[in-house]
Amino acid sequence: MDYKYQGIILNKREVGEVDRIYTIYTFEAGKIRVLGKGVRKPNAKLAGNLESVTQAEIFMSKNKGMGKITGSIAINNFSNIKSNLDLVNRVFYVFKILARIISEEEKDEKIFLLLEKYLTTMDANEVGEDKADILTLGLLFQILAEMGYRLEMEKCVHCEKKLLLENNYFSISRGGVLCANCQNVENKKILISNEAIKLIRIFLQNRLENLIKLKVPQADINRLKIILNESINWFSGENFRI
Ligand SMILES: [Zn+2]
Repeated sequence: MDYKYQGIILNKREVGEVDRIYTIYTFEAGKIRVLGKGVRKPNAKLAGNLESVTQAEIFMSKNKGMGKITGSIAINNFSNIKSNLDLVNRVFYVFKILARIISEEEKDEKIFLLLEKYLTTMDANEVGEDKADILTLGLLFQILAEMGYRLEMEKCVHCEKKLLLENNYFSISRGGVLCANCQNVENKKILISNEAIKLIRIFLQNRLENLIKLKVPQADINRLKIILNESINWFSGENFRI
């Protein structure tokens, strides 16, 4: 059977003498792994369009087992990202996280569109480190929400009362914020600032491309990274640090 996918190359791994296995997030089938046969031979035509952090049309054939790439057309090379070491390293790191937390062949068009928007926004604007941080945080909070892990930032996860501007606590195992009255029900928690609560609300309620307009002090970005790391590590069972 032959297939055509719209995909974003997340990463690649060398196998055998001249082959590679690619991990690709596709619009049509979610995350897939496919074989690129002979792509490491000198002058292999296929390889150029299959670099990590490339959006491409991928043609493949699949019968039993892993599919095999038969052709590809690059749609976006994201060359501005690739020419900036800071940005490309950050994107690689995000892809590494996604490769771990997303299951194979679970189609989710919204995650594909989020990834596409993340890359095109970063590529089209000359983003500095602060904006790249905001976009990355926004992307990961939104992907976690799409995967069913939307952090509760409006009301207390225990008493369900609307959160007040007081000493609130974040609990990853409860998936959101505990108010000052309820914080004793949980041992493993961290203090969360009102600013961080407000920012996560903004991240969850706005389009990714608009987040680039936000001005966020570095101290708040760092607080959000702590919350995000807690969430991703809990979700993946591994130790990632954004
Ligand atoms: Zn409460």
